[in-house]
Amino acid sequence: MNEDFDTLIIGAGMSGLAAGIRLAYFGQRVLLVERHSIIGGLNSFYRLRGRDHDVGLHAVTNYVPKGTKGKPLTKLLRQLRISWDELDLCPQLVSSVAFPGRRLRFSNDFSLFHEEVAREFPHQADDFAKLVTLIRDHDELDLSQKATSARAVIGDVLSDPTLIDMLFCPLCYYGSALEHDMDWNQFVIMFKSIFFEGFARPRRGVRHIIKLLSQRFKKNGGILRTKCGVERLDVKDGRVASVTLDNGDVVNAERILSSAGLAETLRLCGKEPTGDDEQPGQISFMESISVLDRLPSDLGHDETITFFCSSDRFNYRVPEGLSDPTSGVICSPNNYAYDEPLDEGIMRVTTQARFDRWDAMEEPGYVAAKHACYEASLDEVVKFVPDFRPNVVDVDIFTPRTIKKFTGHDNGAVYGAPHKRLDGRTHLENLFLCGTDQGFLGIVGAVLSGISMANLHLLKS
Ligand SMILES: Cc1cc2nc3c(=O)[nH]c(=O)nc-3n(C[C@H](O)[C@H](O)[C@H](O)COP(=O)(O)OP(=O)(O)OC[C@H]3O[C@@H](n4cnc5c(N)ncnc54)[C@H](O)[C@@H]3O)c2cc1C
Repeated sequence: MNEDFDTLIIGAGMSGLAAGIRLAYFGQRVLLVERHSIIGGLNSFYRLRGRDHDVGLHAVTNYVPKGTKGKPLTKLLRQLRISWDELDLCPQLVSSVAFPGRRLRFSNDFSLFHEEVAREFPHQADDFAKLVTLIRDHDELDLSQKATSARAVIGDVLSDPTLIDMLFCPLCYYGSALEHDMDWNQFVIMFKSIFFEGFARPRRGVRHIIKLLSQRFKKNGGILRTKCGVERLDVKDGRVASVTLDNGDVVNAERILSSAGLAETLRLCGKEPTGDDEQPGQISFMESISVLDRLPSDLGHDETITFFCSSDRFNYRVPEGLSDPTSGVICSPNNYAYDEPLDEGIMRVTTQARFDRWDAMEEPGYVAAKHACYEASLDEVVKFVPDFRPNVVDVDIFTPRTIKKFTGHDNGAVYGAPHKRLDGRTHLENLFLCGTDQGFLGIVGAVLSGISMANLHLLKS
């Protein structure tokens, strides 16, 4: 079978769906192909033992109230022609960054966080105010910027190592592909999205967002095919000449937009990633989803997200062993301002994990190791939230191996390659990147990436 399209998009994650909506809206013939049976990629969902679970979504970042102008969330909705009400977002209650003997609470009103920093670190209050001004004044949308160490920039402004670690902990967990550090521009993006703006969630979780995006794509005339992987990109004269699918079909498209990742996309072209700036990332996570016999609030837990670190210094790096339980993210999807409470209590815990160790394991050791790491993570977690272990009625655990299996990302790297391709260009004139390896991370970031790469490269000609 031979078919012709204006644009073929690889991957129906957030970025591919968003790019597809834009292109189809402007009348392009767009084919969006997804290797898996379920769409959403890193932000998907599944059903297990009669329960619906989200994979990626703890929180939609960048939340601003309806009517707020000029912010990423509002720009994104305008570009996709989706109304604020359709997203059905419910704001968080309160979250925190919790270290031994220290807790900085924050909400969707930045003044709480600012006050908390001044209370916990009075000797740093003036310097923190300077940092806030620096962040406010930084133009993170300038795609021509050179990578700069955020640790170096922050180190020039703040001196307290614990405060610095308490700022890096949430920002790294929600968007750093680099060990121990972040690019300064990415630090600003994440700081604004988490602290200046905030968290929200649709009551029905990520399904609601994915359904909204895929319906909009199809309504605009786009064609979505699941269980349809790209096996290779056939290259001729510096261009992708045709696309061969896993089932052997050949598709022709003027342009290709790939959300598969840079190294993964190069391999589809028959090119091994060789340069330092082409290497895939290593940062991956494991996550447990504990279902409780009561709501977390019945146990006295009212926080939406708790970023925790139980050791003196925050280490964001690929652990030596299977996982590092000493820091992570605790999320209760119950603790959003819904009209109706969720039916069951859920506690999700994310910690850093090492892909190659998990990948080398055989069954049944793999299952036993997942449970051992789960127990070890809860031993740390209960230092910061009420002990919910006696109330767990079901648990599911996924590892970097699961992430690789369901998204195709090398090493199960959640935030992709350390070197981003901000302009989305590749070595081929009609092949572009969107999503994680282009550079914008998280749900809102990925959607903005799809939109901006569609606008920049695919709508101009
Ligand atoms: C545990 C976890 C928790 C997270 N929590 C949050 C959160 O609370 N808030 C937030 O904002 N973000 C969160 N994220 C991050 C967020 O999910 C991602 O940054 C975002 O979804 C990335 O979208 P993407 O489109 O760039 O890539 P992906 O979602 O990876 O999409 C790429 C798609 O391409 C498909 N694909 C790959 N190769 C091929 C091929 N050859 N042919 C066809 N299809 C192919 C894959 O199957 C995949 O569906 C979390 C992620 C994880 C893993």
